[in-house]
Order: sequence, then C-alpha cells, then structure tokens
Amino acid sequence: MKPVIALVGRPNVGKSTLFNRLTSSRDAIVADFAGLTRDRHYGNGKSGKQEYIVIDTGGFEPTAESGIYKEMAKQTRQAVAESDVVIFVVDARAGVNAQDHEIAKYLRRLGKPTVLVANKAEGMTQGLQLVEFFELGLGEVVPVSGAHGQGVRSMLDLALESIPGLAEEDEEAVEADTGVIRLAVAGRPNVGKSTLINAWLGEERLVAFDLPGTTRDTISVPFERGGQKYELIDTAGIRRKGRVFEAIEKFSVVKTLQAIENAHVVLLVLDATQGVTDQDAHIAGYILESGRAVVLAINKWDAVDAYQREQIERQIETRLAFLKFASLHLISAQKRQGLGPVWKSIAQAHASAMRKMSTPVLTRLLMEAVAFQAPTRSGMFRPKMRYAHQGGMNPPVIVIHGNSLEHVPDAYTRFLEGRFRKAFDLVGTPLRIEYKTSE
Ligand code: GDP
Ligand code: GDP
Repeated sequence: MKPVIALVGRPNVGKSTLFNRLTSSRDAIVADFAGLTRDRHYGNGKSGKQEYIVIDTGGFEPTAESGIYKEMAKQTRQAVAESDVVIFVVDARAGVNAQDHEIAKYLRRLGKPTVLVANKAEGMTQGLQLVEFFELGLGEVVPVSGAHGQGVRSMLDLALESIPGLAEEDEEAVEADTGVIRLAVAGRPNVGKSTLINAWLGEERLVAFDLPGTTRDTISVPFERGGQKYELIDTAGIRRKGRVFEAIEKFSVVKTLQAIENAHVVLLVLDATQGVTDQDAHIAGYILESGRAVVLAINKWDAVDAYQREQIERQIETRLAFLKFASLHLISAQKRQGLGPVWKSIAQAHASAMRKMSTPVLTRLLMEAVAFQAPTRSGMFRPKMRYAHQGGMNPPVIVIHGNSLEHVPDAYTRFLEGRFRKAFDLVGTPLRIEYKTSE
C-alpha cells in the first residue's frame, strides 16, 4: 500500500508549494482531462519506484476554538492520523513563532515519524539561522526551498526512510492474473454504498472471512458470484459488522485513495437525488488518475422524477466527461433494481483492464489507422509511426515507436485511442498511449 505523507504547518510557510513539488510527476495526466477540479489537497507522487500519497493540510492552529480554523485543525488532525509520516514545515526566514511551538507540541505528543523542514531557505547561510528551530524539540531541521526545489529530494528521502517497514514491502511485483477481481466501492457518504453491498451480498451465498490484516490495517472480503471470484476492498467508508456492511461515520479520503489504488475495478456510486457534487468529481478524478477501471452507478434512481433524471444525465455528461469510457448504470439499491447488469460491467471492465495485446496485432492496427488517416505535419516535422507494443496492463498502455512523435497532435492520439478501443473491445478502463521516438 502506498505510504501517506502529510504536510503540516501554519499558513504561508510554503506547504502548497512543496505539495506541488512532491506531486508534479502525475499532474500532466490530470491536466489533460477537462472538467477535473484542480483544487485538490491529496496527490500522488513518485520517487524512483516508490509511490506515495501526499496530503496538503490547510493552515494548522491546534488550539483554535472556533470557526474555520477549528475546522481546519480537525481536518489536519485527521490527515495526520491517517499519515505514515509528517513533514512539519516552518519558515526559515520568519523564524520560530508561538504557533510553530503549538504544532510541535502536538506532533511530539503524537510520536509519529516527523521530518522538520525549514522552507524558504534558499541563499541562506545554513546552520546559523536554523539553529533556533532546535527549540521545537523535533531534532535536526532540513533546509529546503520549495520555490526553487533545493533540498526537496533529501526531505522526501528522509520522510520515506522514516516510515517503519516500508523498505521491506513488495518491489512493484508484476502481478499474476489470479482470476480474482478486486473491487472497491467508492463514493461519498450516504450515496448508498452499504445498502448496495448488502443487497448484493445478501442475495449470494456469501463466503466471507477476514484475510489476515496487513501491517497497515486493510480489510477485504472475498466472495464468489456466478463462478467469478471477487475481493471487496474495504474503503473505510464501509466496514463489515458480522454479516452486514455499514458505512462508518468518518469519510476517509486516504482510505478511499488506497482502496482505489489496490483495486482492479472501482464502482463509483453517485446519489441521483444530489446530482454530481464537487466531492463526486474529486473522487472520480482520483480514480482516473489512478488508472483503474471504473463503473458508474447512479443510485436512488427510484427517488427522482423525470426532470431530475434528465438533469443528472446532463451533469454526468459535462462534469464527468473524463469518465466517458466507463459504463453507466441507473440503479436502486434499496429496491434492488438494475443491480444485475452492474456485475456484467464490472467483469467487462476487469477483462478490458487486463487485456493482452500482441505486438503484431497492435502494429497491424496502427498501420491500418495510419493508412486511413496519417498524423498531420507539424511545421517541419511529420510524425512517422513504425510499430506498437503493449507497455502495461491495468490500465493498458500502448507504446508507439517511430520518429518525431513528440509532434503528434492530441486529436490524433484520441483518434488512435478510439480505433484501439474498438478493436480490443476496451470498455470501462482508461487506455494510455505513449510515444517513443528513436534517434
Ligand atoms: P501555504 O499557505 O503553507 O500552503 O504556503 P504557500 O505554498 O501558499 O506559500 C506561501 C508564500 O510563500 C507564497 O507567496 C510562496 O510563493 C512563498 N514561498 C513558498 N516557498 C518558498 C520558498 O522556497 N522560498 C521563498 N522565498 N518563498 C516561498
Ligand atoms: P453509504 O454511506 O454510502 O454506505 O450509504 P447507505 O447505504 O448507508 O445509504 C444512505 C441512505 O440512503 C440510507 O438511508 C438508505 O436507506 C438510502 N438509500 C440507499 N439506497 C437507496 C436507494 O436506492 N433509493 C433510495 N430512495 N434510498 C436509498
């Protein structure tokens, strides 16, 4: 499971700047999809092969008694509780202040691995000015400059190294297809996730047992349906109590993100009576970014009238346009309507995500596509495509080799994507196309 890093500190010390540094590797993917909210506080990052999740917390005033600061403090505490390591950011130029002391006190008491970082340290004579941060009682301070990037790498290494047990975890093992579909049911609180799961699993002869928990507290439920094995991944939004599933009160973005990462297929549940909310769009954005296969279910269809139905269908087209590749189901978990076909889409999305595509077939399809319509010239360059091979599964990646491929227009990439999707019957999974230019 990906480790979680929380950025904590008072306002204006440079947390968001560091957040952007730590997550920049994935941003390009997200930017390609219109309609995705950019205002995010959770991000993915990668250092070498080690992937991680970063949480940017708002300004933290642990002693705030009321109002927005109290709410921010609450959110920050939750983020800290869910993280594996805390990066505590202070301002190298402003020096230590009372708020820093409060935060330090809170973190010391918590006893979580913590890396103390003095930001805005560019051009400073190290050591001298930073000595005062020792008062915070969190050990040595690491000077960084989020704005210029200095020290960010060592800060990240220190943070990851301080997580116990991380080094021993699996080294991106290439996963064999075991025939088990790992399914995460994601969605905001109250959209009907537990009702749906209980409706489903109640009707089956459920073979449920807890797998021995991993070090970081995951729960999953294996079961079988129509000869197909599934493993339902706990999203913390949902917990099993005896034979019944129920939503626990606290919605956890971190747990949702981790469940999404660990799934083959994510069933994203929306509430028809609420329409597509910002939080829905956020969760959808995370799923997209993770590259997981996805099926959409609009629940509580029984509770909306014709006008609302039309509205929500329009909202899905606009706000979730980037999930166009996913199948959509209009269901009622409570009345058990429309549930069967959702399973079909889950299996179809899984099969699509795991599809094997041979180099000869890919190359033939590529050549046919180019013969039908060649990529346009861009200035002096005409992209030349030579062959294609599969670069990965879940999500499928198609790598196209040739010359001047950095000049291929986006519209052409979409054209190719459409052809490949059709030829391989890829539904419910993202498809990534990458270019490798030789010379
Ligand atoms: P946050 O409120 O903690 O998220 O802080 P921001 O990331 O929004 O940064 C607050 C201000 O500090 C902004 O004006 C940034 O441009 C500036 N800042 C951030 N990092 C650095 C840095 O490394 N050096 C300097 N000089 N300024 C920085
Ligand atoms: P969760 O937080 O996503 O797990 O949501 P729950 O399964 O606890 O459901 C939240 C509320 O929505 C409960 O009061 C359910 O009875 C109700 N609900 C769930 N599914 C449906 C549905 O299909 N139609 C209607 N009208 N209400 C539903």
